[in-house]
Amino acid sequence: MVQIIPHVDEVFQRLKQEFAIHQIPVLSRRKWEEVVHTPFTTLISCLLSLRTKDEVTEQASIRLLKEHNTPEMLVALSEKEIQSLIYPVGFYKTKAKRIKAIAQTLLDEYGGKVPDDFEELIQLKGVGRKTANIVMVYGHHNSAFLPIDTHCHRIPNRLGWVTTKTPEETEHALKKILPRRYWEDFNHLFVTFGQTICTPISPFCSRCPINIYCKQRGVTTKR
Ligand code: SF4
Repeated sequence: MVQIIPHVDEVFQRLKQEFAIHQIPVLSRRKWEEVVHTPFTTLISCLLSLRTKDEVTEQASIRLLKEHNTPEMLVALSEKEIQSLIYPVGFYKTKAKRIKAIAQTLLDEYGGKVPDDFEELIQLKGVGRKTANIVMVYGHHNSAFLPIDTHCHRIPNRLGWVTTKTPEETEHALKKILPRRYWEDFNHLFVTFGQTICTPISPFCSRCPINIYCKQRGVTTKR
């Protein structure tokens, strides 16, 4: 029998209402204003976003990708040039080296295209499950994938939806119980929720719009 998340419609309705006027994280936006939105720019932007605030990722992505939005254009830049365009993203030196190497691999092995196959994507050095899922959903517009970051892993555990130890376990568990109609919204809603209300340490449970549906599993201090 298929397990159903209790009150899932109410939870999504309330979260959508809460964040209706909130800016969607850059990676999950359907349209990008200043950068052409392709699987390649999605991949590079996602790599820039690791351990970096959304506003910083957005500005760095614009500086780098506005004029250099293909693997050919990116490999033509030196590592130093990439570094200065993406600074101050976290680990900008390592990321400059990594994204130049990925662009070169795409040219050498994939005809300059970003693979639309999840298993091939995670073979690229520096591309993990989260990045590959984001590229599949927001780059290739394939809704059969569910990107899970730290917020998307922590919050369903607190709610009592899943009991999992890693984001990968959460991805598999959620795919079994989360109705498909919510997959597209899940990542950006839960990332925004985790950044603002259901924060990693001491979440704001008293003003949480879904607190009546939450088991608060593992929450020891709250506000
Ligand atoms: S009640 Fe607290 S722990 Fe539960 S979802 Fe809301 S903020 Fe997170």
